Amino acid sequence: MKIAVFSSHHFEKKFLNAVNAEHHHSLTFFEPMLNEQTAPLAQGFDGVCCFVSDHVDAQTLNALKTGGVRLIALRSAGYNNVDLVAAAKLGLTVVRVPAYSPHAVAEYAVGLLLSVNRKIHKAYMRVHGQNFSLEGLMGFDLYGKTVGVIGTGRIGAVFATIMKGFGCDVIAYDSFVNQELVAKKTVTYVSLSELYQRADVISLHVPLLPSTHHLVNSETLPQMKDGILIINTGRGALIDSLALIEALKSGKIGGAGLDVYEEEEGIFYKDLSEHVLKDDVLARLITFPNVLMTSHQAFLTKEALQKIAETTLQNITDFETNRPLLNQVQAKTHLVKE
Ligand code: NAD
Repeated sequence: MKIAVFSSHHFEKKFLNAVNAEHHHSLTFFEPMLNEQTAPLAQGFDGVCCFVSDHVDAQTLNALKTGGVRLIALRSAGYNNVDLVAAAKLGLTVVRVPAYSPHAVAEYAVGLLLSVNRKIHKAYMRVHGQNFSLEGLMGFDLYGKTVGVIGTGRIGAVFATIMKGFGCDVIAYDSFVNQELVAKKTVTYVSLSELYQRADVISLHVPLLPSTHHLVNSETLPQMKDGILIINTGRGALIDSLALIEALKSGKIGGAGLDVYEEEEGIFYKDLSEHVLKDDVLARLITFPNVLMTSHQAFLTKEALQKIAETTLQNITDFETNRPLLNQVQAKTHLVKE
């Protein structure tokens, strides 16, 4: 099939090209993100391959359909950036990579937690400036602390297991109980309000859905312990950024490790170092010394990129050869457990 690969990054091309040697599709790489304006680039292609940063709304889908596209192959697990209802109406098939490496994301969340707690990001900058002082770098032992995991699916389960290994008391909230975690005594499930009250650290691993939008907000933040550390490798809009800023200003929050930001589209994955940052909320967030923000990179390991390439090209081949589409996403999957 002729596939237009949008938002293509240098680091992923070699993985996609290597795996494609077995599939023989025609891949054309476009650096721009997919949106209504760039959709005409896909004219004459059978499918598009998109990333989390692509804006696959109804207008974009309409333009793709007009150009002859039949397949939307996502190189991501999350699909909140795709209007699935519009895709269904247009008869466009959407496939994704449901699991590539939960370890990549979970281990990164642990990395953010360790850095925010022990202030490794600050120490790195200090030593570069020949400031060898330890003032202000004190953290706390994670051993014996209570870690709250919101979302115990693939990534949350790995994160919970790692934190259990640190000697933490791991409590969790999810609308579905992960029986394996319960059987292994890795986590204890509690209500969301109990989790807020007891946790010293909260890590978010739920998808972005209407039910999880702004889960962390001006009403839930006061329920948390003073000095709470919040880690978000899920999706930016799980947190109300303005409420987070207020809680950071008041000193309620001890620190935040954020790999995602609710308005990251059009900013993350770009080198804007020569530009004025126009997003005042982001500009404020990154001024806090106890906020460590990264540019949606938790997935970025060799193992994850290999798996993403394998699943994406298999999805495309399955579509072309009319085989069952194991990784298809449809509007109704919003309502059921995956
Ligand atoms: P998953 O589907 O395996 O797990 C999600 C869990 O959330 C499930 O157990 C589900 O029951 C639970 N859940 C859903 N809605 C809920 C609700 N309203 N209340 C409570 N629990 C709810 O997904 P995963 O593979 O673990 O990924 C989790 C999220 O991580 C993805 O949706 C994606 O947004 C994000 N992610 C981020 C990166 C990154 O690079 N930062 C990479 C991959 C995934």
